[in-house]
Amino acid sequence: MKTVSIPATDNEYIIGKILCIGRNYVDHIKELGNEAPAAPVVFMKPATSVIAGGERVVIPPYSSECHYEAELAVLIGKDGKDIVEAEALSYVAGYGVAIDMTLRDVQDGLRKKGLPWDIAKGFDTSCPLSDFVPADWVPDPQNLAIRLLLNGEERQNGSTGLMMHTVAAIISYLSGIFTLEEGDVILTGTPAGVGKVVAGDRMEAGIVGVGTITVSVA
Ligand code: MG
Repeated sequence: MKTVSIPATDNEYIIGKILCIGRNYVDHIKELGNEAPAAPVVFMKPATSVIAGGERVVIPPYSSECHYEAELAVLIGKDGKDIVEAEALSYVAGYGVAIDMTLRDVQDGLRKKGLPWDIAKGFDTSCPLSDFVPADWVPDPQNLAIRLLLNGEERQNGSTGLMMHTVAAIISYLSGIFTLEEGDVILTGTPAGVGKVVAGDRMEAGIVGVGTITVSVA
């Protein structure tokens, strides 16, 4: 079983569902030529997709275009259903940094056919995930600087203030569809600057006040 931890509180969580939001930053929607959705775009990754810092992303043989997407990750600390937005942040145990590895060529092909994206988003090693900091270390999850360096060069540099759907709104929305459980993780979307990685590349994603994660590509 895959786990994540909050070192500051010595708590470890067995990862449940990983719920991901797509197209949540306007600048990223524009760079891919997509339309802004009215409701959040939701997809999932299995817990088996998680790797920790220092591990390696393995690009599956059915893809030749694997992209990084740096994202704020939210760890759910208690079970909830139909959570109202005003109370949503009280369900958060901690915040971390994720890289939503995406097989863009596979995703584009599936989308054109109206088929699900799972094999483009949920493959083994597709979810590098940092340790988490306690939620109360992050007074405002909508005011965080997020960036990604590829081989030491800055490729993404955004603010969670640019999210279309806030963390609280996302938790409220998702909890009306899926019962949220302790250990569930939510990936909240990526700002502009996504791009391709190849074998040997090194990615470092960081959110000021939350943490960093560094992984390489096998
Ligand atoms: Mg993403």
